[in-house]
Amino acid sequence: MARAGNSLGVGRKSKRAWTRRKAHKSNVPEDTPTELEWARMDKYSAVAGGWNADTDSDSDSDISGSTGSSSSFSPEIMELRKGDDVIMLCGDKAKTDDVWIGKIDSIRARAEHDVWVRIGWYWASLDIAEYIKSFESTTFAPLERASSDNFDFVPVEDCIRATHVYEYDESDLEPPDLEPTSYFVRSHLWYKRRHLEPKPGALSCICFRAYNPFPKVLLESLLDEDIMHFCPRSSCRRWYHRNCLLAQGSVDHPYSNYRGDRGVRLLSVNPDDSAPCALLAWYCEPLAPSDPEYSMSLDPVDLRSAISGNDHISLAHLPPALVRVAQFPIVRRPGPRHACWSAVGNVTEVTLARRFIYAAFEGLYPGGRQYAEVEELVKQAGELEHRVRGLDVDMVRDGEDQSLVKQENTLLDDLLELIKSLDTYTFLASPYSPYWAARELQLDEDVEAMAAPPLVCPNPDCNNAI
Ligand SMILES: [Zn+2]
Ligand SMILES: [Zn+2]
Repeated sequence: MARAGNSLGVGRKSKRAWTRRKAHKSNVPEDTPTELEWARMDKYSAVAGGWNADTDSDSDSDISGSTGSSSSFSPEIMELRKGDDVIMLCGDKAKTDDVWIGKIDSIRARAEHDVWVRIGWYWASLDIAEYIKSFESTTFAPLERASSDNFDFVPVEDCIRATHVYEYDESDLEPPDLEPTSYFVRSHLWYKRRHLEPKPGALSCICFRAYNPFPKVLLESLLDEDIMHFCPRSSCRRWYHRNCLLAQGSVDHPYSNYRGDRGVRLLSVNPDDSAPCALLAWYCEPLAPSDPEYSMSLDPVDLRSAISGNDHISLAHLPPALVRVAQFPIVRRPGPRHACWSAVGNVTEVTLARRFIYAAFEGLYPGGRQYAEVEELVKQAGELEHRVRGLDVDMVRDGEDQSLVKQENTLLDDLLELIKSLDTYTFLASPYSPYWAARELQLDEDVEAMAAPPLVCPNPDCNNAI
């Protein structure tokens, strides 16, 4: 099937009446393969424009190398591959947010025009609500789905078009940049157990109220209710409602109780570690009333002052906007992107900026201590490689003096050791200046829009500024 001239989606099977008996179950065509039959059918890794029979029974065949050049394929004919997310034929739901979506688990055929796919269903909120009575459908965004272990065999003609379903892990430091038009999953439905994991809100805040990134009602006041702050510390990685933290008093002590200002304290929370950044930790400990500095009402110091005593540290190579963003709180707010707000938040940008600063603290910048060490290692590796090339081992024949071969092996071992030692350094690409230059222009706006109260992480083991 699906050679040029054959069209998908308008075949005999797609004209079946769609009387839904229960969620995700269309009336099953009479010729649907049984499990036994499926096991014997020919496997494919893709369908479109011509497909190969499976010559290797252990692996699925691929479309590549199939008959005909790609130029002979009709542009309207899509290619579907194993692992693709696809919009499925779903009758009256086709133009709604509840459109059926599946993931192609496998592709098999009885004959050229008799191709079937095994689909793992993505469940929409209304379908889950029908299936699990305790499920509250408003906790899901309209285009949110739950992946599932609920599979069906369906004719390939039921696959309307490929799409992409993003995986959204809310604790992720680099979440996908979701828009209201993005399909995404953040939970899994265990079909037979009627169990959704994690339950909406199970990992959220201290109130366990689920966060809906794209609610149907977009009232500003309602969206503000759901403003959340993130603690990126590796052993926290949790979002908290601003209002919940204010209500329970998870807020800073008066500023004079810390040596570092809020920016320094935010920057010290390391997304890649459970301990605060060592260089700044001293500035983040609350001062005890017994501490002589406590009664001196000293102004907390900013980042420049905090690192001024360390001659070997320089932030001069970093764009000023990056240094400021690293000291931002990590926040999100539901709804479409608006000013500094986005539904997944500024976590990626702030994390990246903090990592650049920590790398600078470790001397990884042009002229820095680590930078010089890395340069030296790269130079040594280059010299070793040059010596290996100079040995001309290829000219040594069997039975001749093997000392050259031994020399080469020793040099290669040394080279491997050098490469391993480079692994101990953290490498970041250099900051992209045009991005940070443009970013500089919005920063004041961001700070004003966020107007963040001085919250602290409610985890008693943490209590860092967030
Ligand atoms: Zn809360
Ligand atoms: Zn924390």
